Amino acid sequence: MTDTASSNPALVPFDGITIALSKGRILEETLPLLAKANITLLEDPGKSRKLVFPTTRDDVRILIIRATDVPTYVEYGAADLGVAGKDVLMEHGGDGLYEPLDLKIAICKLMVAEPLNSGPTKDRPKVATKFVNVAKKYFAEKGQQVEVIKLYGSMELAPLVGLADCIVDVVDTGSTLKANGLMPTELIASISSRLVVNKAAMKMRHELIQGIINQMKVAVDEAQA
Ligand code: AMP
Repeated sequence: MTDTASSNPALVPFDGITIALSKGRILEETLPLLAKANITLLEDPGKSRKLVFPTTRDDVRILIIRATDVPTYVEYGAADLGVAGKDVLMEHGGDGLYEPLDLKIAICKLMVAEPLNSGPTKDRPKVATKFVNVAKKYFAEKGQQVEVIKLYGSMELAPLVGLADCIVDVVDTGSTLKANGLMPTELIASISSRLVVNKAAMKMRHELIQGIINQMKVAVDEAQA
């Protein structure tokens, strides 16, 4: 009979610290900061379909999940720590997480963008975005009536085909907007990635977690110097 737990390391009970990261920019830019806390992946997630990765520290493992799922894993305690963009945290909302450190990575802006040749603002413009909660809140605070349309990607397409009058999206260089005949018009928030911590874990495992936060802070400060 196969022993599932021993053949799948993800099922072995783990009493260390679990850190949730997402692939891409956040993973690449977070790994050097974690290295300062002696946390280095033992395997390249780019070459593996695994979702749970051991590290050079026996007491730390890393989950690789979707960026928008990171706050949920950390809030429910499935991960003790996580790294998520401020855009994702704003959209997630709630106060289930501590946000003790701005990692100053994956820097971009959350903006409203519209076609270069757009005419006068309509009474109730359509806004396409994956940041539905953020967009609703932003326009409500401005006192502007809008219809928010949820999309999961390629927001830039929506105004080109008449699905929306404008979009709310993250912008870095602005070249994707430009390539699609759009221009940024309003800044909603400046974005960087944040370290987030489960509230119960922060109390129960304070020393271990605070140690990791402190070491990552040193790495963040060094990177800024
Ligand atoms: P993604 O991998 O595209 O889901 O993005 C993950 C996180 O990286 C987002 O939640 C943002 O915080 C950040 N991000 C997204 N797009 C950009 C960009 N163009 N430049 C810098 N950071 C970005």
